[in-house]
Amino acid sequence: MAEKTKEEKKKVAPKKKAVVKKEPKKMKTPQTLRGMKDILPQDGKIWRHILDIAQGITTAYNFQYVETPIVEEAKLFVRTIGKGTDIVSKEMYSFEDADGSKLALRPEGTASIARSYINNGLLTQPQPVKMWYYGPMFRRERPQAGRYRQFHQFGCEIIGDADPVADAQLIVMGYNFYKDLGIETNVNVNSIGTPDDRERYLVELVGYLRSKRSYLSEESRKRISKNPLRILDSKDPQDQEVVAEAPQIIDWLSENSRQYFMSVLEYLDQLDIPYVLKPTLVRGLDYYTDTVFEFFDANAPEKSQSALGGGGRYNILVETLGGEPTPATGFAIGIDRVVDIIRKRVNGGKYTIESPLLSLYFAHLGEPAKKQSLHLIEELRRNGINLYHDLGKPSLKAQLERANKIEATHAIILGQKEMQDGTIIIRDMSSGIQEIVDQKKLAREIHKIQKNLKK
Ligand code: AMP
Repeated sequence: MAEKTKEEKKKVAPKKKAVVKKEPKKMKTPQTLRGMKDILPQDGKIWRHILDIAQGITTAYNFQYVETPIVEEAKLFVRTIGKGTDIVSKEMYSFEDADGSKLALRPEGTASIARSYINNGLLTQPQPVKMWYYGPMFRRERPQAGRYRQFHQFGCEIIGDADPVADAQLIVMGYNFYKDLGIETNVNVNSIGTPDDRERYLVELVGYLRSKRSYLSEESRKRISKNPLRILDSKDPQDQEVVAEAPQIIDWLSENSRQYFMSVLEYLDQLDIPYVLKPTLVRGLDYYTDTVFEFFDANAPEKSQSALGGGGRYNILVETLGGEPTPATGFAIGIDRVVDIIRKRVNGGKYTIESPLLSLYFAHLGEPAKKQSLHLIEELRRNGINLYHDLGKPSLKAQLERANKIEATHAIILGQKEMQDGTIIIRDMSSGIQEIVDQKKLAREIHKIQKNLKK
């Protein structure tokens, strides 16, 4: 046989390449963005509880739940909140869409609600329209405790009501929301009058601030021409000395606005709401008129970033957005800060979120029981009975350990024997007493236990 040429050899037995088994490259896990956070399962109960309280309050005062999109045209916020504000000039997440339109992640909820009121012809509905919302807001602020770049607000708006009692009722609602959560608040109130009042006042204020320019912090010096009202809110001790002597907006109110503010305060007195008149409270956004207010935790020092919520009247907002002149008023409450307070109290044993009287764990043993459990769980759910279960856990011991961990009041156990005779066990977890009942009567038996617990 002729010897194979080199080339032929290559064809027959190609050189074996050393096979190096490549480990799949492990991805570096992405992290949440700075100032943004996950809401974790251990906090889920706190968030739900707070939202339940919000739901209760809004139902009691007859507000309807609404939602608006998270992304809007950027100009919606620029025109209403104001170009000179930090929110719009520094903190808004704005971007250009593929078609060139300028969009923004909403930094707050009120402007969107006013837009929605106009777009959807809510003016034709019986007035006022009382709406509440909840959802994430975005501001690219410098993150720190209680200050996030994505945070959540619960807000209430009354559109189409010019009466001072509406402002007072919103303040009461906010105050009671915190009170229902065991948080005592200080309510600061002020009036910033009409845009005309504010213009006249600003001339006076800017003149004063210019005369004290050398005593102001650098940041405030820059603000004299851009956003002088914001200086009133400065927490810099140097600025505060100047602000203490500054002209106060309350002295520049027109007669109507003064009378209006007096009425708001009278209603608050009627309702025994403790409030503090705060001449430097202006809330900075362009759309506010007349009443402005803020809530602070009464048991914590007031810092610039510690307000729990705030609001005010915004009689010019709907008109600014091209609608009919429509009086309106509202508030927004920061939920993240409330969660932080409640979490601390829960962990310190100073606050308990009440669990339902009856908490059931459904346990099974063996494959046939697992299948039957699927049916029984559905049937109980149809009867309004909620259960915890881990159908993926085969061991009865592990399931009952879990029942203990979640502090179930009762375990419902479907074992092999019960499968055979069509029964099921209800075990009282604290006494250990077990009752065997007919599977068909399970829902009825649970309702009976529930009734007895309520007694
Ligand atoms: P504002 O309308 O800016 O006064 O916001 C109303 C409430 O939302 C504030 O009182 C805070 O409780 C909350 N809030 C505003 N900005 C943030 C933020 N960056 N992080 C967390 N909560 C915020």
